[in-house]
Amino acid sequence: MNVKSDTMFCIQCGKENVKLYKGRCSSCFASGNKLITIPSDMTVEFCAHCSSIHVGDRWLESKQSEEEIIAEKIVRESVPDENAEDIVLEIDPISQKGSILEVLVKARGTVLELPVKREFTLKVKLNRSVCPECSKHASGYYEAVLQLRGDKRPLDSVEIKSVDGIIEKNLKKLFRKNRMAYLTQKVEIKEGIDYYFGSYKAARKISNALKDQMGGLIGESPRLMGRDKSVGKDLYRIWISFRLPFFHKGDFITHDKHVGLVIDINGKRILIQDLETMNKISLSWREYSNLELVAHGKEVKTTTVTSKTPTKIQLLHPETYQPIDLDLLPEFSDMNIGNQVNVVEIHGKIYIIPPNILRE
Ligand SMILES: [Zn+2]
Ligand SMILES: [Zn+2]
Repeated sequence: MNVKSDTMFCIQCGKENVKLYKGRCSSCFASGNKLITIPSDMTVEFCAHCSSIHVGDRWLESKQSEEEIIAEKIVRESVPDENAEDIVLEIDPISQKGSILEVLVKARGTVLELPVKREFTLKVKLNRSVCPECSKHASGYYEAVLQLRGDKRPLDSVEIKSVDGIIEKNLKKLFRKNRMAYLTQKVEIKEGIDYYFGSYKAARKISNALKDQMGGLIGESPRLMGRDKSVGKDLYRIWISFRLPFFHKGDFITHDKHVGLVIDINGKRILIQDLETMNKISLSWREYSNLELVAHGKEVKTTTVTSKTPTKIQLLHPETYQPIDLDLLPEFSDMNIGNQVNVVEIHGKIYIIPPNILRE
């Protein structure tokens, strides 16, 4: 005699007159469902230096903790059962022996709308190695050299400190997006300082930032270093020369036969004060090669006003004490007999330097 469909019963618990799923009632079916298939072991490869993670054939940067990365990988490699729904995984490391991390996974979900809980343990092998970027960094790899120089003069320690500060600040910012934005070497040589950077792009941004803030001249020259056979490309390294101007703020330069005091320098212009007219003149860097240094700021001397008329002012030469008569510019109309004034001698001529002109 055949068993009729209306007399079907659960093959597991024997319950009759219930809807069957593969021969089982819903609760027997649910209790036998494994909810999700989780691999029993897996390997996660991290960079020990920067915690990027090796996925497939690529290294990906990660802002996540190792635990988060492992949890994500477990979720990615687990396969939910086709009858299971609303699965939530709770992932906890329970022990670690050497590089093997044992992880407990608690899974909750529903099967045929009945709640189901399962627990799994798996072994995660933590493979700590070095990503290509970090290994380049560690080996001193560089793409560009920034050569800091003074134009026709040595660098001074204040400038070097400013440059170091600008480089450090910019690297910090650039490194967030470009892990090759590192300084691998700083070498002091007779001519100046060479900075070796992992990334050419970063070196270039830094040289532009230096010029913006300090003024100066940038040049670039690539050098062929060989050939990368693995990708069939020529390997270039770029030398970026960054020259600071031959004058400093506070020095005196000539421009079109005028004598000017350099009152500010930045990437866009050189600002001078003409010592004959007292006009401020903004010079573009295109005019740089026409400029000439005629006196250093430290050559400024102090002397005394000895007489004054509505149109003339008389001072003593700071070294020979000979009286010198100069036209009284409106800028100096407040000066009185007995006042101390700063002067500079350029090409045998004495110029008065307006007070407070070089306020920082
Ligand atoms: Zn049953
Ligand atoms: Zn790394």
